[in-house]
Amino acid sequence: MANVIVIGSQWGDEGKGKITDLLSRSADVVVRYQGGVNAGHTIVVQGQTFKLHLIPSGILYPGTECIIGCGTVIDPQVLIKELEQLEQLNISTKNLLISQTAHVTMPYHRLIDKASEDKRGNHKIGTTGRGIGPTYADKSERTGIRMLDLMHPEELRKQLKWTINYKNSVLEKLYDLPPLDPEAVIEEYLGYAERLRPFVVDTSLKIYDAVQKKRNILFEGAQGTLLDLDHGTYPYVTSSNPVAGGACVGTGLGPTMIDRVIGVSKAYTTRVGEGPFPTELEGEIGDILGDRGAEFGTTTGRKRRCGWFDAVIGRYAVRINGMDCMAITKLDVLDTLDEIKVCVAYEIDGQRTEHFPSSARQFARCRPIYQTLPGWKVSTTECRTLEDLPKKALEYLKFLAELMAVPIAIVSLGASRDQTIIVEDPIHGPKRALLHADGTPVAV
Ligand code: GDP
Repeated sequence: MANVIVIGSQWGDEGKGKITDLLSRSADVVVRYQGGVNAGHTIVVQGQTFKLHLIPSGILYPGTECIIGCGTVIDPQVLIKELEQLEQLNISTKNLLISQTAHVTMPYHRLIDKASEDKRGNHKIGTTGRGIGPTYADKSERTGIRMLDLMHPEELRKQLKWTINYKNSVLEKLYDLPPLDPEAVIEEYLGYAERLRPFVVDTSLKIYDAVQKKRNILFEGAQGTLLDLDHGTYPYVTSSNPVAGGACVGTGLGPTMIDRVIGVSKAYTTRVGEGPFPTELEGEIGDILGDRGAEFGTTTGRKRRCGWFDAVIGRYAVRINGMDCMAITKLDVLDTLDEIKVCVAYEIDGQRTEHFPSSARQFARCRPIYQTLPGWKVSTTECRTLEDLPKKALEYLKFLAELMAVPIAIVSLGASRDQTIIVEDPIHGPKRALLHADGTPVAV
């Protein structure tokens, strides 16, 4: 498998959790490289559901090292809860490492996140209100608190006194909120620091070391390409870089050490929060997709907007991420439909375009141009090979792969690990086979 990045090719929630969980089986190290507790993966193993927000899903495999990289932001309170939940289920967390340079979400970040979203009126971004955006803003403003700072109580005390006083004036004057008690916050975070101390190291060194030892590393992106701060549908984006390039910045590993990029796409599209969504279905079919696909956010419980597969977005994700194969998830959600539409291009102001526009204003004016395919109208949840699939489902997959010009390596037909078809050479043949560092094929 070598060093593989798994990214979401749409607006997040593509089922990356299940795919990274599957691939983690062959990985020695799994690394999360951006985002915070605003992300959420749901993994079902032997009927047991695990909801993970920050800890890489590789934690479910004993012996797999899991790393939370420097590009993430860490809410210690939530992370500690996640650790406790895993420990209660007898899942060892001894293989977890946390970057010492990852930034820390503080109580004022959460307060400012919610208050600033409320102030936006009709211009809401749809933030999860977990303080992620303000934590990244402080990182850029160079007033952030890092895990490293938590490890030095006296310096932390000084740093937080100043920062909390500063943030209190923002809370009071800008948002009409009561100030925070600096002493209480300092004590609370010193407690978290002691709990997390054993996990905090220079993770970039650990990752480089793993590369040198030719261990298999899986880089796990949260959210998706269209939520990327630079390449997504700005301003309705997250505050970090979920795209494949973010894996290098968010871990400290150079790009020449990455071997492969796998993009995860649903067989249709969903979007949480605000912003244009050309293939959105507001009627009965949208409800069918939402109900059959259980389209409610792992972190927020928010209902996701549903629509047809959008190949314009798909091709954009292939380009921006340098994607060399795809995993298509939730094909089973389409099982009952008479016909299925795929957006092959957009019409914008009377002109056809195959390209994703970088301006949100232009994107809002894009109308989908559809091609309609027949539905297969039988259950695919028991299919385990491409041959098991109904012919029309296979044709649908083939159509997607051809539109996006990348092979499909994995097809997912249900939430559990076994409801999966692993195809190394489904349509065009992968550019590089999925290989172990010693050259043997990975049997996922
Ligand atoms: P992620 O953040 O990209 O991992 O996405 P989520 O975990 O938020 O959403 C994926 C949801 O779909 C979870 O509830 C999964 O258990 C479920 N899921 C994943 N793959 C499939 C699939 O192929 N079919 C069905 N029906 N559900 C799936």
